[in-house]
Amino acid sequence: MDFKEYIRVIPDFPQPGISFKDITTLLKDGEMYRNAINELKQMVSELKIDVIAGPEARGFVVGAPLAYALGVGFAPIRKSGKLPGATIEAGYDLEYGKDTLAMHTDAIEKGQNVLIADDLLATGGTIATSINLIEQLGGNVVGAAFLIELTDLNGRGKLPENMSVFTLMNY
Ligand code: AMP
Repeated sequence: MDFKEYIRVIPDFPQPGISFKDITTLLKDGEMYRNAINELKQMVSELKIDVIAGPEARGFVVGAPLAYALGVGFAPIRKSGKLPGATIEAGYDLEYGKDTLAMHTDAIEKGQNVLIADDLLATGGTIATSINLIEQLGGNVVGAAFLIELTDLNGRGKLPENMSVFTLMNY
């Protein structure tokens, strides 16, 4: 299936030099959105997953339907100051900018197998930070699933070597 046909590429957004991969043009097509989630579901079927964790906001759009399809829970990874309960936090650099991510301290049970889901793997900073948070909570990160990977940025290089990484599209 050619999912790329449904991705809108916008040059120089949100700043000069960034080629933004806009997934809203995929999401608005109900059949293709469902196909994309179903394909990720197939890709991760070999893994034993207890919970999916996804960073806001586009990680929710991929992670929550995937969790629903697999019948597992979803743990939101949010920007600092958004979660109402007790949290742990970690800072990170983005392809553009800097940020801090947080999770509820009870989001993951010790020993649970966690799949991370997001729309796009760029430098890998977001996912490396997500792994840091999940591991602090005692979770076992079994893999990561993305709609898109920007291969030139080598985000995989920031992830543990033995971690399974699944992507539908490469740029
Ligand atoms: P990174 O931490 O560098 O792997 O960046 C990943 C996050 O930033 C993803 O959650 C994307 O939503 C967003 N992002 C980074 N680069 C792009 C891009 N070129 N187009 C669209 N989203 C991007």
